[in-house]
Amino acid sequence: MKKVITGLLALIVSFSASALTPWQKINHPVAGSPQAIGGFANGCIVGAQPLPLQSPDYQIMRTDQRRYFGHPDLLAFIKRLSSQANQQNLGNVLIGDMGMAAGGRFSSGHASHQSGLDVDIWLQLPTQRWSQQQLLKPQPIDLVNADGKQVVTRLWQPQVGQLIKIAAEDSQVTRIFVNPAIKQQLCVTAGVDRGWLHKVRPWFGHRAHMHVRLRCPPGSLECEDQAPPPPGDGCGAELTSWFQPHQPSAKPGKSVPPPLHPSCQALLDNHFGE
Ligand SMILES: [Zn+2]
Repeated sequence: MKKVITGLLALIVSFSASALTPWQKINHPVAGSPQAIGGFANGCIVGAQPLPLQSPDYQIMRTDQRRYFGHPDLLAFIKRLSSQANQQNLGNVLIGDMGMAAGGRFSSGHASHQSGLDVDIWLQLPTQRWSQQQLLKPQPIDLVNADGKQVVTRLWQPQVGQLIKIAAEDSQVTRIFVNPAIKQQLCVTAGVDRGWLHKVRPWFGHRAHMHVRLRCPPGSLECEDQAPPPPGDGCGAELTSWFQPHQPSAKPGKSVPPPLHPSCQALLDNHFGE
């Protein structure tokens, strides 16, 4: 019996190992001048850089996962945002997933974060820096009520709203995804200064973090930008539609991933020597 279980365990382990995408087996950035290639949800990156692990302004969570790589523009944005947050005494900025060393697809968890231009930043701003232990096993704070219609007032910090605003006002940021209830909270509290709200987009999940996306860097000729978000603050009918019973479904079922961008395929072929 013990043998059977051991055999089964080995099988499970080998299954999960084979479920890794080739991108997850690339540990170091591909040398070259920085190029974000393809789309956010089907791309890769040459010349990615690691976000410096030590900073007085931010802390990186789950460094054991090695998802702290990105285009230099993304690194510069994170430094800008967190130093502004620090200057305004908002608290300690917690950095979640960026991208892998060469970008590309994850086996689970993210559809995007593939071209080195996306970062998850948590929507909590602790006054104390976290210990190594806390950073490796971080505890998210779910800011959204069980009904999904508003934030939990007791947990909502105005500093978090300010952090989202600073990020949205950055000229290189094109979109920020948050839960519809969080967008709603921003719509209510924004006051007259609303020009930044249109970049903040309601999306599924994102109850404890925001996902920030940058525009394609000028030198990345094969990078594919998205159309800009619709004009207006996005606080009207579009947002309300998220709170209706018949909102769009989260996932259209298991779909086959699209073919890789040719330059990303070439990068893989080169790396694995085919
Ligand atoms: Zn994300």
